[in-house]
Amino acid sequence: MAELVDTNRENRPYAITDGGGHSSKLSENFKKRCLKNAERSFAQTTQCQEINSISALLSMEDAAFVVHAPNGCVGCVSFMNDYFKVGQYHRGIKNIRNARYIVTSIDEKDVVFGGEKKLRKAVLDLNSRYNPNIIFVFTSCASGIIGDDVDAVINNLQEEIEAIVVPIHCEGFKSKVPATGFDTAFNAIVKYVLKKDEKPEKEAGLINVFATTSIGYKDQLEIERLLEVLGLHVNYIPFYSSVEKLRKILKAEYSVAICQVFADEFMEYLKNEYAIPYSKTGMPIGIRGTDEWFLSVARLVGKEEVALKYIDEQHKKVLPEINKIRKLTEGKKVFICAGTGRGIAAATLIEDFGMKLVGIQTPTYEEALIEDFDGLQEIHGGDFIIDVANMQPFEQVNLVNKLKPDFFLGMSNWVSKLGIASTHILEAKRPTFGYNGLVYLGRKIENSIENPSFNIKLSKHKKLPYKEAWYSENAFRYLKERV
Ligand code: SF4
Repeated sequence: MAELVDTNRENRPYAITDGGGHSSKLSENFKKRCLKNAERSFAQTTQCQEINSISALLSMEDAAFVVHAPNGCVGCVSFMNDYFKVGQYHRGIKNIRNARYIVTSIDEKDVVFGGEKKLRKAVLDLNSRYNPNIIFVFTSCASGIIGDDVDAVINNLQEEIEAIVVPIHCEGFKSKVPATGFDTAFNAIVKYVLKKDEKPEKEAGLINVFATTSIGYKDQLEIERLLEVLGLHVNYIPFYSSVEKLRKILKAEYSVAICQVFADEFMEYLKNEYAIPYSKTGMPIGIRGTDEWFLSVARLVGKEEVALKYIDEQHKKVLPEINKIRKLTEGKKVFICAGTGRGIAAATLIEDFGMKLVGIQTPTYEEALIEDFDGLQEIHGGDFIIDVANMQPFEQVNLVNKLKPDFFLGMSNWVSKLGIASTHILEAKRPTFGYNGLVYLGRKIENSIENPSFNIKLSKHKKLPYKEAWYSENAFRYLKERV
C-alpha cells in the first residue's frame, strides 16, 4: 500500500529548517536557489516530532496510547492533557477524564537488555484497563536507538487483543521539523485503519476537517458555523474523533484543514487515492485569513457567491469593533513566534489592527509556503526579520531585545521575562478562529497592551539565563552560513 510520505518534512522540495535574516533578502536568495540550510554550530533543545504525533491523536474518544520512551519524552503531554480536559468541559462532558496513556519509562537497564517485554506488558495493561478500540504506540529516540522491534511486538499482540494496535514511528532524531509528526500519524492511519479497497458511498455535504487537540471548542463552533453556510457538515479528524469517524474519512465529499501545514500531505493522498478534493489555505485567523479559508472551501463546493455575501455581512458586523481596538494598536511593532502555519496567520491578522511585523520565528521556510511569506512582505514590507528556527530561545530573546517590539504574539515563555506585553496565538481554551475569534483576540491584544504589568513585574524578579554580552552579539552568530 502506498504511504502518503516516505520522507521527513525537511526533505520536501527546497525546505529550509535553519537560517535567518531580512525577509526580502531571504526571499530573493530562496528564489535564486542560493539559500542553503545554515546549520547552527550551537543550538538549544528543539520541539520534537513525537509530541506532534501525540497531539494529533490525543483527543480521540476510543483510543489509548503507549509511549515507548523514557519519562522525559512525555513532559509536554501534561499541557495537552490540560487542553483535552478543558476541551471536554467546554463540550459539556460531565465525567471529564485524563487522556489514557502509559509510558514504558525506558531506563538504563532497558537500553542494555531491550525494552520489548516492557512494551508488550504496557499494551496489555492498557488494553485491560481501558478496553479501547484502538491503541497507538509511539516510539522515541531511545526505542529507536536500542533497536526494539516495535512492529514485531505489535504484530504478535494483534493476535491476542481486539483493539487495533498501531505503531507510530516518531523517533525525535529522525526529523528536525516537528510537523513531520503529523505526517507520521496520518501515515499510520492510512496503513492500519483505512481499508485500501474500500470505496464507501459518499455522504452528501460531508467534509473532513483536519485539526489537532489544540483547537478550542469556540473555534470548533466557528468552523461549523462557516461550513453550515455552505451547506456542509463536518467530520473532524483526528480531533475528538474515533475509529468509526476515521473510517468515515472516505465517505466525505471534500477535505479541508485548519492550517496549510497540518494534513497537507494526507489531503493530497486522499485526493489521489480516493478522489476526495481538498482546499488548502492558511488558518482562518484574522479578516484576510478567514476570508481566504472560507472562500477556498466555497470555491471547492461551487458556492462562491454565497460565501461573498456572507463575508460582506460579517465584515459589517466586526469592522466597527476592530476599528475601536485599532485606536490602541495602530502602528505598534510586533514579534511573532509560532508554528509555521499559525505564525503566518498571526502575521496577517495583525494587519487588521494596524500593527507592523518586525520579526517572526518559524520552524520552516519552504517552497510550499514561499507565497505566504511573500504575502507578508506585501502587507508589512520586506524589512522584518525571519528566524528559521525550531525554538532556539537564545536567538529569539536577542532579536526581541534588539528589535524592541511593542507586542509579542505567540509562545512568550521567554520574552515575558523581558517585560514585553504578549498574548497567545495557539490557545485551546479561548477563541481565535473566524470573525468572532478575531474580535476576541483583538480584545486580548488590547488588554495586554493596556496592562503589561504582569510581564513587567516578572522581568524585575526573573532573569533569563543569558549574559548581557549576548544581547549585543549578532543573533545569527551561530549560523554556519549567513544570508
Ligand atoms: S523522542 Fe527524542 S527528541 Fe523527542 S522528547 Fe524523546 S528524547 Fe527528546
